[in-house]
Amino acid sequence: KLHNTILELKGNIRVFCRVRPLLPEDGCASELPVISYPSSTEGPEQGIDLMQSGQKYAFTFDKVFTHDASQNDVFVEISELVQSALDGYKVCIFAYGQTGSGKTYTMMGRPQSIDQKGLIPRSLEQIFETSQRLSAQGWKYKMQASVLEIYNETIRDLLAPNRTSWDAARTDSGAQKQYAIKHDANGNTYVSDLTIVDVCSSKEVASLLHQAGQCRSVGKTQMNEQSSRSHFVFTLRISAVNETTEKHGVLNLIDLAGSERLSKSGSTGDQLKETQVLVIYLAINKSLSCLADVIFALAKKDNHVPFRNSKLTYLLQPCLSGDSKTLMFVNLSPEPSSVNESLCSLRFAARVN
Ligand code: ADP
Ligand code: MG
Repeated sequence: KLHNTILELKGNIRVFCRVRPLLPEDGCASELPVISYPSSTEGPEQGIDLMQSGQKYAFTFDKVFTHDASQNDVFVEISELVQSALDGYKVCIFAYGQTGSGKTYTMMGRPQSIDQKGLIPRSLEQIFETSQRLSAQGWKYKMQASVLEIYNETIRDLLAPNRTSWDAARTDSGAQKQYAIKHDANGNTYVSDLTIVDVCSSKEVASLLHQAGQCRSVGKTQMNEQSSRSHFVFTLRISAVNETTEKHGVLNLIDLAGSERLSKSGSTGDQLKETQVLVIYLAINKSLSCLADVIFALAKKDNHVPFRNSKLTYLLQPCLSGDSKTLMFVNLSPEPSSVNESLCSLRFAARVN
């Protein structure tokens, strides 16, 4: 039995694992489950075991959510972290995993459903409720939202007003906008030309997210394929001011690109397309491994943290460093056919690959 224990992550980085339930369309109920849970682990962490080719691999995480954990069960464990964005902290919550493992379900869920809405709508409701309560105690809030995606190392503004379908947004003169990541004098990053919207309620943000979702999928036949290959980044900037104090918090909620490796089965025989697909996969793999490099350099308190190696980490640099707080969900599918990808995801998270 191999025992892979997650690095003892110090400070403000947490890793949670969530396994989605088997779905009717998975159609493998007769096979033996590949994921199981040890009844106890040493220390406060929780365990998950994976069986691959007769070999058992054991992992531990700060929290493990089994297939029957509800959206509320998950939110209960993160609400304090969300709250800290109102207290002036910079917070990042990521969902990592192969396509179909439940990343979008965890982040967004079904926003219209009381039970099934995910942590983005729940977080926003909590933030606006709390800010209203604190307004009565003399705090004044200003909230600003932006939504972007990073596809093949290119930034796309999902709230751009002049955007037509999947194409990049255009300036008034019709030129394609170039979204560049800039650092300001205070060490914060911003994206030039990015649409930033002042928001006062979770309803307003919900409608922005709906707009962003439309923008993400319109006009493309292979939209699922495309959206599974891009990183989706929702950002809420929160400024809180009272007579004596100013706080500036940020909440970043990120649905990462699918972590699966390129498989031959999806290939079309079209040489050009295959090359493009390969390039995009390499970009995804590069940005995901850069993210892992950054998070683990931070966890180990390395002096050199390689933020600049990908757009995603460069953009999030201020929100990953200092006294910021980071949570990574590792989403897993219980399908026996996904066992190899699941093992890769667990190893990614445990940083033993
Ligand atoms: P990903 O975004 O990683 O590609 P999805 O979030 O789209 O994966 O999930 C794949 C499918 O599984 C969707 O139909 C989704 O509704 C369902 N699903 C994922 N997680 C859960 C869960 N915890 N409970 C119920 N259904 C889930
Ligand atoms: Mg998804």
